[in-house]
Amino acid sequence: MFLADLERCTDSVLYNLRLLREIFYPRRCLVCGQSIDMGCFCANCRRSFLLQKVIRDTEQFKEVFLLYKYEQQLKEILHQVKFACCSNLLPLLREEAYLALPARLEYFFADYDIITGIPTSPERRKLRGFDVPEKIFSLAELGNRYVPVLTRVRNTLPLYELEPALRREELQGCFKVCRPVAGRKVLLCDDIYTTGSTMKEAAAALYDAGAVSVSALAFAASRDNWQ
Ligand SMILES: [Zn+2]
Repeated sequence: MFLADLERCTDSVLYNLRLLREIFYPRRCLVCGQSIDMGCFCANCRRSFLLQKVIRDTEQFKEVFLLYKYEQQLKEILHQVKFACCSNLLPLLREEAYLALPARLEYFFADYDIITGIPTSPERRKLRGFDVPEKIFSLAELGNRYVPVLTRVRNTLPLYELEPALRREELQGCFKVCRPVAGRKVLLCDDIYTTGSTMKEAAAALYDAGAVSVSALAFAASRDNWQ
């Protein structure tokens, strides 16, 4: 009882602190500087980053959902999160994900039995302190449905330095499925989609473990995927 009261009290203090901060330091769009309520961008600037592309029935995926264009300020924010470990930007990215997903989120996610993501290697996670896809896609509307299903059985080299064929080779067998997925429809989330080789390797592990379908959801996609 005491703990519940304490939690309520802490919540209310945090809420008031946030409110004060919003009043005295309004959040600003990272592109034009206009005052905003949610995410990183005003509606106008967000439009230039929105991709909201759906690719259906590829060889590996039932659907691929790509939310934003990986460029300019959005690319910079993701770099800050991934390489400078700026965890304070994660709630803003989560809000941006929410704004780019279909309006009736509960129906969108209801199509999948399992919602999971590409896992960060344990070493990188320890260094960073968090897992980026998990933080972006653990949306309040999802409740506790985002669950870890894959683990990395070995470290991989930074993929952006490798040619596509070498990426595939580097990734081969790097994921292990650690929860039952047989007969399940899986939605696999990641922060950045470039060649899709990481997602494809993860999908292969899920199919090997008996998943009936795998769909991919990426927060941002590189230019090659925009057309
Ligand atoms: Zn703006």
